[in-house]
Amino acid sequence: MIENNLKDISSMDLAGLTEFILSLGEKKFRARQIYDWINKKNAMSFAEMTDLSKALREKLAGEAFLAAPEAVSTQVSKIDGTMKVLYRMRDGNYVESVLMKYKHGNSVCISTQVGCRMGCAFCASTIGGLTRNLTPGEMLGQIYGIERMTGERVSNVVCMGTGEPLDNYDNVVRFIRMLTDQDGHNISERNVTLSTCGIVPGILRLKEEDLMINLALSLHAPDDALRKQIMPIARRYSLDEIFDALKEYYSRNRRRLTFEYSLIAGVNDSDECVTKLVQRVRGMNCLINLIPVNPVRENNFVAPSGGASLAFQKKLEKCGINVTIRREMGRDIDGACGQLRKRYMETDNI
Ligand code: SAH
Repeated sequence: MIENNLKDISSMDLAGLTEFILSLGEKKFRARQIYDWINKKNAMSFAEMTDLSKALREKLAGEAFLAAPEAVSTQVSKIDGTMKVLYRMRDGNYVESVLMKYKHGNSVCISTQVGCRMGCAFCASTIGGLTRNLTPGEMLGQIYGIERMTGERVSNVVCMGTGEPLDNYDNVVRFIRMLTDQDGHNISERNVTLSTCGIVPGILRLKEEDLMINLALSLHAPDDALRKQIMPIARRYSLDEIFDALKEYYSRNRRRLTFEYSLIAGVNDSDECVTKLVQRVRGMNCLINLIPVNPVRENNFVAPSGGASLAFQKKLEKCGINVTIRREMGRDIDGACGQLRKRYMETDNI
């Protein structure tokens, strides 16, 4: 992205940054120093880059900008310590990210777009539609910002916040490559998960990238007829097409697939759904992650009771399916799945 002729230095990989630095008539090793400041030391301004001369820092500020968004507010869940961060980008748009602390490490759920155009009926992130895609620098900045705030390293990243990652394909793939760059932030590909509502060409393209990242499909219904009622994308791609693409993806990277299934009372929690679900996933190396649907004030969907969700899980288990009920983190701060939403300008209630 170019802004008032300034270049977005946070979205440059090391090769791109090197080219840029050489074009400014500077020495090659400067690129490495700057790349480290941004991607290893989580710098948010050129002023922090103290091993560069003042003259060079000023020159850089005249040619480029850092895309790192600014954390404007945080909310911490009283239930589980989950933290939701509201970030403001340079153009005044906002996105939300969520930090979840687990025994195995800190996991950050990032947004990939401002808003979303997928229109899933149960999800708050799609209300108001898509404003714009996020750049790689803005996605990286959500993680680096949380590390700055907590002083702790993030070990896992999930692209499960606002936005459909495969609707912002090029930026998301570049983001993942930079995040997992061994010369950069160096998060293992195996610790990165991308969740999609099922954009078939995107899944097939992703397969060709040879990334060892985990793929999750937002399934939510075991057949096309029901899926079409709650997910507009189902009118575009059938479950048969999506599953063929997933199997191809799996044949290459052999990572266990996750299916997210938001349980909605009276909609997708019947015994017939169990039977069809089992038929769909039988024989696949997969995990079904049940998410009792989280409340969103604009719709009337409600989750089944705890007992009913458990019963749904047990029925799947009986058929030999790996299934968990997602521990909902940060529900009291609207930080759980499907509760992140678009915020507007400064005057908005935040
Ligand atoms: N667009 C991507 C990334 C969003 S991930 C995708 O569709 O996968 C967020 C996950 O939360 C998705 O599985 C989404 O379907 C689910 N979700 C959305 N609204 C929800 C809600 N109200 N309750 C529970 N899960 C929800």
